[in-house]
Amino acid sequence: MNAPAEPPLLPLLRQLIAEQGPIPVASYMALALGHPRHGYYTTRDPFGARGDFVTAPEISQLFGECLAIWCALVWDAMKRPLPLRLAELGPGRGTLMADVTRTLERIAPAMAQGATLHLVETSPVLRRAQEAALHGRNAAWHARFDEIPDGPLLLVANEFFDALPVQQFLRTAAGWCERCVDWDAAAGRLAFRSGPPLPGAVPPVLAAAPEGGVFEVSPAATALAGEIGARLAAAPGAALVVDYGRRAPASGDTLAAIQGGRKDADPLAAPGEADLTAHVDFAALAHALSRGGAATWGPVAQGELLTALGIKQRLAALAGRATPAQIERLESGARRLIAPEGMGTLFLALAAATPGLPAPPGFEPLR
Ligand code: SAH
Repeated sequence: MNAPAEPPLLPLLRQLIAEQGPIPVASYMALALGHPRHGYYTTRDPFGARGDFVTAPEISQLFGECLAIWCALVWDAMKRPLPLRLAELGPGRGTLMADVTRTLERIAPAMAQGATLHLVETSPVLRRAQEAALHGRNAAWHARFDEIPDGPLLLVANEFFDALPVQQFLRTAAGWCERCVDWDAAAGRLAFRSGPPLPGAVPPVLAAAPEGGVFEVSPAATALAGEIGARLAAAPGAALVVDYGRRAPASGDTLAAIQGGRKDADPLAAPGEADLTAHVDFAALAHALSRGGAATWGPVAQGELLTALGIKQRLAALAGRATPAQIERLESGARRLIAPEGMGTLFLALAAATPGLPAPPGFEPLR
């Protein structure tokens, strides 16, 4: 058997490291996912049954239908402003936005007609897939969140923030260092290496970390959350972020590579050919959103949110006019989305809105 071909990004990374020295993990992740020619998202559509991973909207239409209900109820609470910007960050194949708009046309036709769609996407391959999914709708594409035109905003982001680069810090005998990626010439492969010790004091939670301990932050995620918070403070709107992650900052290396459905691939083995993700720190996101000026709620578990939005009732309604095979598919999809031992608890949802708006559906305080 032939040895697998070298990923085209690898010689470019080697050259960069030869010129600059070891590169921070955040730079590695940004290049592996978003390099303009050889990045993972730049070159392929990773979704679906034969792809690297399956996301909630690809599992079941029920996910988008529930999120449409969320959008319609929040729009109602906003006193139905029109025109409305209905936006999504990292829309993948466009399935979620297609399901949301199809549902809104039925449950809130005035909203569907008065909304312009805004898709924030960097990948040309996935933009084409989104254009096909949203064919005939009033949609515009943007490279960045701040390109969405002014006006009342409803924003959704599913499995987007986990694709933003994380910066990692490593506890060494010499103190905390930035974790970097280097070329190990003897082994002929990329390897993690600690950079120079960081100046300054570390937060008290880290002072006692053992040697070898890793701590992650995502400056890209918190900067974007801050921008979203500022926009929600300046104009009416709300945002719903769904992703896998943790409720509070915790130490640990969560950088993972997903390839061909396997979640345990080596993150350095195939840059540009494996998906790289890191857990979302929801506490940091909420903090950045509120520092920007928005009110925030949650996170709540995905299963709780979808249940509050009526996924079971919607399933029953659809099952009433479906074939046995369709019913089986709808039921197994719903189970996967809300299962307490699966996506239902691993995935969390965080909401943010213009201060003064009521708690969004699914995020009401317990009575
Ligand atoms: N929301 C989709 C896809 C999630 S995968 C779903 O649930 O199926 C992550 C998506 O974010 C992809 O569409 C990817 O191309 C896009 N993406 C990754 N980094 C991005 C960035 N910095 N700016 C905009 N889009 C980005």
